[in-house]
Amino acid sequence: MAKKKKIRLEFRKNQQSRTRSNDLTKRFDQSQNDDGMISTERISGKGDLTRKRTVIGLEAEGAEQGVVLEIDTSVCRAGRVLSAHGLTTTVRDDQGNIFECATSRVLKSLTTDLRHAVVTGDCVWFRPMGETEGMIERVEPRRSALSRASRGRKHVIVSNVDQLLIVVSVAEPALKPHLIDRYLISAEQGRLDAIICLNKIDLVDVAELQPLVGVFSQMGYRVVLTSAQTGQGVAELRRMIQGKETVLSGQSGVGKSSLLNVVQPGLGLRVSHVSAENQKGRHTTTVAQLIPLEAGGYMVDTPGIRAFELWDVSSAEVSSFFRDLRPFVNHCRYPNCTHRHETDCAVKDAVADDLLDARRYESYLHVYDGTMPPG
Ligand code: GDP
Ligand code: ZN
Repeated sequence: MAKKKKIRLEFRKNQQSRTRSNDLTKRFDQSQNDDGMISTERISGKGDLTRKRTVIGLEAEGAEQGVVLEIDTSVCRAGRVLSAHGLTTTVRDDQGNIFECATSRVLKSLTTDLRHAVVTGDCVWFRPMGETEGMIERVEPRRSALSRASRGRKHVIVSNVDQLLIVVSVAEPALKPHLIDRYLISAEQGRLDAIICLNKIDLVDVAELQPLVGVFSQMGYRVVLTSAQTGQGVAELRRMIQGKETVLSGQSGVGKSSLLNVVQPGLGLRVSHVSAENQKGRHTTTVAQLIPLEAGGYMVDTPGIRAFELWDVSSAEVSSFFRDLRPFVNHCRYPNCTHRHETDCAVKDAVADDLLDARRYESYLHVYDGTMPPG
């Protein structure tokens, strides 16, 4: 049994005054008010209304504030969030029924980042209200998450997916290995496996790609060479995503939609349709949606992943997200070595000894300094 813990929640003012709050939230919050929770309201010196309430949570590692909310499992149902658009969240229960859900106010208050109490991919418990509506009462700890920085806050785009599919083209537009490195940081940070897909191989001599492929393969990343034009590598790519939950990323023009269409007819169209819709939406530019694959699993696409810098890592963390640097960092003379100018740096020695790829090291320096390589 999980240990119980009392938490004191402060209800944010802007949640109370939120005019967009839909009826579902209001109806439910009223019915919830009197279920044994201790609630206090007061006016602060500044005239702001603050409400505090003590709720009982169950300790859970990796959960928001270290707890998940206690729920009535005889009434609540488990489900998966297929998409989270502002105030309504589409949840699919274990039988495949679809519910449009709101999020309970207690759950919102528990979440330190107001905007993301519930995100696409979350495993949740919700209280059904009728056949097609419900109220989300608990979010399970996320086993993986793809996030980006948004105005100084962590913005989780999608959670609990298996892998990040990084699509780059080897020509038109030209191959940019440092972009792959940056996407890999996001994968490492979010505990996602990564697949590197080098597309448009019909345009180049594949032998020339081998050194780069070798570097990434040696680090344990899967690399697949494809051409959406000739169909080369497509069967292999299909196998890699089958039965998995995959987030797609890559610059525009590299062939993502074309590839998805050859993997599964119509899929690319569907994905780009979603993206176009989202880009026009008011506050939905980074909304992700799980799109089921015929062979099982899901594909996730979001314009947010394509267009923004995902990672928000402190300089000190950078080396931990470069898999190939990690084995060396503990052998540097100084424990806080930045691997740039220090003497007796095991990372620099590794580059000199050809144990570490020089291009990857350059990439590390750029990420550390927050600069982009030329070209
Ligand atoms: P997206 O923006 O990443 O979705 O890229 P698209 O799928 O729209 O493709 C961009 C352009 O590249 C289109 O003109 C495609 O026909 C072309 N393209 C896509 N894949 C390949 C490929 O494997 N080989 C070649 N030669 N062209 C491709
Ligand atoms: Zn060092």
